[in-house]
Amino acid sequence: MRVEPGVWGIGDVTGRGLFTHMAMYQAEIAVRDILGRPGPDADYRAVPRVTFSDPEVGSVGLTERAARDLGVRVRSGTALVPASARGWIHKAGNDGLVKLVEDADRGVLVGATSVGPTGGEVLFGLAVAVANEVPVEGLRNMVFAYPTFRRAVADALADLGDD
Ligand SMILES: Cc1cc2nc3c(=O)[nH]c(=O)nc-3n(C[C@H](O)[C@H](O)[C@H](O)COP(=O)(O)OP(=O)(O)OC[C@H]3O[C@@H](n4cnc5c(N)ncnc54)[C@H](O)[C@@H]3O)c2cc1C
Repeated sequence: MRVEPGVWGIGDVTGRGLFTHMAMYQAEIAVRDILGRPGPDADYRAVPRVTFSDPEVGSVGLTERAARDLGVRVRSGTALVPASARGWIHKAGNDGLVKLVEDADRGVLVGATSVGPTGGEVLFGLAVAVANEVPVEGLRNMVFAYPTFRRAVADALADLGDD
């Protein structure tokens, strides 16, 4: 964001994400820098991306292909929303899936996709996991409220395997 001494750039002009939340995130960091306050640098590993279509399509971090291209040993897991209890209750319009991308060597999620009636909302927990490198083992041992759409995340965790 530091273009030259005394000039900062934030938002679309930086070419990072092209989202309102990206501009807001960068604004806070730039203001902190301008005021000389300490704090972490910008971290783009867990930028959420949501397309407000029907169903909503949310994703965070690396896609499976991007992770493989970076040389990550990938394990992926997928669960279909209609196969979950909440998907069955929802009936029409329950199309969707949760896909997880794990760095198998480190045992952490590096990316995730959440498609469904509340795909953008379900994405939040996945963004927390990617941003904070929550161990997959810890995620597996969580309790997922029944019958929320988030239970498809538990199903996708159970599906994580080498491809
Ligand atoms: C149709 C559409 C839908 C979108 N939906 C979403 C969404 O759902 N969620 C999301 O996160 N993002 C969405 N975005 C992206 C989001 O709008 C941008 O990422 C965000 O607005 C970027 O903020 P910015 O401050 O960088 O630029 P902008 O918001 O574009 O602000 C730049 C400002 O600079 C002004 N300006 C330009 N040139 C000059 C000049 N020479 N002198 C003075 N002023 C100038 C412009 O008029 C504008 O007001 C959408 C974008 C579009 C086009």
